[in-house]
Amino acid sequence: MKSLDIAIAGAGPGGLAAALFLSRAGHRVRLVERFDRPQPVGSGLMLQPTGLAALQALGLYPAMRQLGAPIDRLVGTDAKSGRTVLEVGYGPLGPGVQALGVHRSALFGVLHDAASAAKLPIRSGFTVTQLQRDQGKSWLLSPQGLEGPFDLVVDALGAQSPLKPSAQAPGRMRPLEYGAIWGTTPWTDAGFDRHALTQRYRASSVMIGVLPIGRTAPDGPDLAAFFWSLKPADHAAVVQRGFAAWRHTVEAHWPAVAPHLNALGGFDQMTLARYQHHTLPVPAGDGIAFIGDSAHSTSPQLGQGANMALLDAAALTAALDATDTLDEALERYATMRRLHVRLYQLLSLTLTPFYQSDSALMPMLRDLLVGSVARVPPMPRLLASMVAGQLLSPLKAIGLDPLRLREVP
Ligand SMILES: Cc1cc2nc3c(=O)[nH]c(=O)nc-3n(C[C@H](O)[C@H](O)[C@H](O)COP(=O)(O)OP(=O)(O)OC[C@H]3O[C@@H](n4cnc5c(N)ncnc54)[C@H](O)[C@@H]3O)c2cc1C
Repeated sequence: MKSLDIAIAGAGPGGLAAALFLSRAGHRVRLVERFDRPQPVGSGLMLQPTGLAALQALGLYPAMRQLGAPIDRLVGTDAKSGRTVLEVGYGPLGPGVQALGVHRSALFGVLHDAASAAKLPIRSGFTVTQLQRDQGKSWLLSPQGLEGPFDLVVDALGAQSPLKPSAQAPGRMRPLEYGAIWGTTPWTDAGFDRHALTQRYRASSVMIGVLPIGRTAPDGPDLAAFFWSLKPADHAAVVQRGFAAWRHTVEAHWPAVAPHLNALGGFDQMTLARYQHHTLPVPAGDGIAFIGDSAHSTSPQLGQGANMALLDAAALTAALDATDTLDEALERYATMRRLHVRLYQLLSLTLTPFYQSDSALMPMLRDLLVGSVARVPPMPRLLASMVAGQLLSPLKAIGLDPLRLREVP
């Protein structure tokens, strides 16, 4: 398609990746972001082989690999019995297949540096409130003024986007009962595998996790993301009881996390994350494409959100490339992503209560299945594919090459 004027609303992972993919495809892009200085929010996340393939397509995998922590497996044990209740390794997917634990600011920095090097225009301090359409063109409205005209707006504003249709139908946004408090701590090897996401559970009402997330600068110290599952409704009461009381509870479940709690030192070093679940039936409309969390958000139990945002950005660019009109491109984009997004949204919604809920039955079932069926072929490979984001071959649908680690310089 001819080159378009494209506004990208939101400079998170999805928006920055879309700006890079689209500008490299010859489109004129303009990013807008509410923060005065674009900045990442939160602690760590896992980049799966799918998201890493998208970064590799942008030539950014080596920079990300330099900062991130390679993850070979996800393990979880029951705090009381010591039984393994989560065990998924990337090994069955082939030699060298791994995820990467990264600090959010490392992912943000790699994408943002590439956008700055490409001199992509970013208007910061611009809080999008509305989209206006007139004669086939779009304008973004904000209390800070107006941006436009654009041929296409890419909504990468995250789960609370004011532009997505569900903003007019809030019932579609389902807040999840459990969220978590997250903090960043120095990495410690004592009691932890530096190539694993390690979790500890008590039924499914207690979940504690330690994820290696590498560094925020090549010569910086190694870090971990620490999280504790919590109902947002209980957060104020937990804070009121005090850090020492909470710490006592956490350590009773998992004494090895004491160094992480020491390093955190107080609740002011931890961020409450609320999770909500929604999926747009069609991630596109008149002159607008929705990518990332604005199109689909969920609990991070399966660790797919940022990866799906990167895939959406690649898919939208491929769809524009392969079609002659904007309407055709948006339809193609929606089709390319439909099955993968729906499957992973369904899996996240179904699996989350096995790890975060008050149910007594679900964790019992979980423990039974993980200890038996999950170990019998082909289950280990199927589970690895699921966690890697590779079910339904999303890369093939978009035309992205899988990351071949041996070819990476
Ligand atoms: C605690 C936690 C752990 C997670 N762990 C993982 C994981 O392990 N793996 C994984 O893949 N995903 C994980 N996720 C999900 C992942 O963080 C999101 O899916 C991902 O950040 C979505 O990217 P995005 O670019 O679509 O949206 P966002 O990251 O939400 O970015 C949106 C951007 O838009 C800006 N913005 C918002 N509103 C406005 C406005 N009105 N005007 C202007 N700018 C605006 C924001 O400032 C931000 O820069 C996790 C999420 C949480 C909360």
